[in-house]
Amino acid sequence: MSNYKHILLAADYSLHNDYVAEKAKSLAEHYQAKLSIIHVLDNIAMPDTNYGAVIPLNEDSNYDLLEAEKNKLRELGNRLGVDEDNQWLVWGVPKEEIVEIATQQQIDLIVVGSHGRHGLALLLGSTVNSILHHTPCDVLAVRLLDK
Ligand code: AMP
Repeated sequence: MSNYKHILLAADYSLHNDYVAEKAKSLAEHYQAKLSIIHVLDNIAMPDTNYGAVIPLNEDSNYDLLEAEKNKLRELGNRLGVDEDNQWLVWGVPKEEIVEIATQQQIDLIVVGSHGRHGLALLLGSTVNSILHHTPCDVLAVRLLDK
């Protein structure tokens, strides 16, 4: 099996986010791969800005919610040792934007939780299901059993 070179963590900040993040980090260490993080904003209305789907972390915005989201991503990135160039804050539909960035960045492994904020209604979250069907790269769904 070839080594992974670029791993993408899909972070939703749900209860199990840190567990999934640690898995992604140790896989990146194991394979000596680059680690990137994506968080997709799907629950805030975007203010009237010039941003497209990708929101630059290093640009000031006057919108508190957006700044809070940037800070959350920076904190996670700092904890995992991922620099800002590899932190993706994107606005849109998670399952679509994750596949989009994975394709653009030539990701070879996407790490997700088996379910996230949408709970256990589906054993395999809808986001994961859709990513599996729309990306050519490997997808690791970290099994989350207890919540
Ligand atoms: P769900 O489909 O909500 O059960 O989520 C399953 C997994 O998809 C989560 O554990 C995350 O890894 C990923 N995911 C869901 N929503 C987002 C999001 N807004 N941004 C980044 N990753 C997400």
